[in-house]
Amino acid sequence: MKKAIVLTTALLFGLVLFIGSTTTQAQAKTTFVTIGTGGITGVYYPTGGAIAKIVNKKRKEYGIRCTVESTGGSVFNINAVLAGDLDFGIAQSDRQYQAVKGIADWKDKGPQKDLRAVFSIHAETVDLIAAVDANINSIADLKGKRVNIGNIGSGYRQNAIDALEANGLNWKTDFHAESLKAAEAPGLIQDNRIDAAFYTVGHPSGYYKEATSGTRKVKFIPILNIDGLLAKYPYYARAATLMKNYPGAANTEESIPTFGVKATFVTSAKVPDKIVYAITKEVFDNFEAFKKLHPAYAGLTKKSMLTGLSAPFHPGAMKYYKEVGLK
Ligand code: GLU
Repeated sequence: MKKAIVLTTALLFGLVLFIGSTTTQAQAKTTFVTIGTGGITGVYYPTGGAIAKIVNKKRKEYGIRCTVESTGGSVFNINAVLAGDLDFGIAQSDRQYQAVKGIADWKDKGPQKDLRAVFSIHAETVDLIAAVDANINSIADLKGKRVNIGNIGSGYRQNAIDALEANGLNWKTDFHAESLKAAEAPGLIQDNRIDAAFYTVGHPSGYYKEATSGTRKVKFIPILNIDGLLAKYPYYARAATLMKNYPGAANTEESIPTFGVKATFVTSAKVPDKIVYAITKEVFDNFEAFKKLHPAYAGLTKKSMLTGLSAPFHPGAMKYYKEVGLK
């Protein structure tokens, strides 16, 4: 009896040791990689998901497990990547430029030397939507209204401020400015708690679908004086937002004039080459499958994904681009 107990205990102990060691081995092999995105009704969040889906298929080969985090947007992502809190982040091309140069949100911190570019993704436009009952037909009409200019940490807040300034409005004095996260704005327009909202996002997005499909009618407002913006800021480009994506919007025009930027995928110089290489390789080697994961990627080409970047390429990404002749 005693013998049997001793034997069982020994066996159990051995089993525990065995399980323990395999878990440790498995853990040692798996590197967890986190991608910072944006609000869940934007395009960054599904983009993080698309990258993770492609990369996680090769989990056994690379030992990389990608996870996605919903965040406050571009500025938050860049800062979190540089602080080592996130491994990768999606950020607007204008925000990448500003971080590299040490301007705008990085004026006090100076140039962010560790920021690295991996690739760029879809185009984003800067848009203003307003409730039809608020009688807003241009940025000038925002005077005295309740307007979301975006949360601190978002990329689009500065785009809103630039568009307002180009049209002679000061967000601090001319209207009631809200600093809400994008995900909250469509619901608040529908609840008549705000009249208008800015956002910078790829299309189609859940955000505008939500904002334009409620009982309060909502329309896109053209952004004027884009020439002034283009003359002043090197990172903006003329753009148009296609209304076919949002049949619920109260617009009759086919497209609304505005300006835009690109979504980009960034990391830190401190992230190991082999991880950046693996992610770059999987996205590019599976480019056609990747493109199918969101309609905002329709116009993407491999070459276009190497443009719109201001930070130096991460060596892990560069290794892949050289291998396949993209660089
Ligand atoms: N461009 C937005 C920002 O950085 C996020 C858009 C999105 O989540 O798709 O604030």
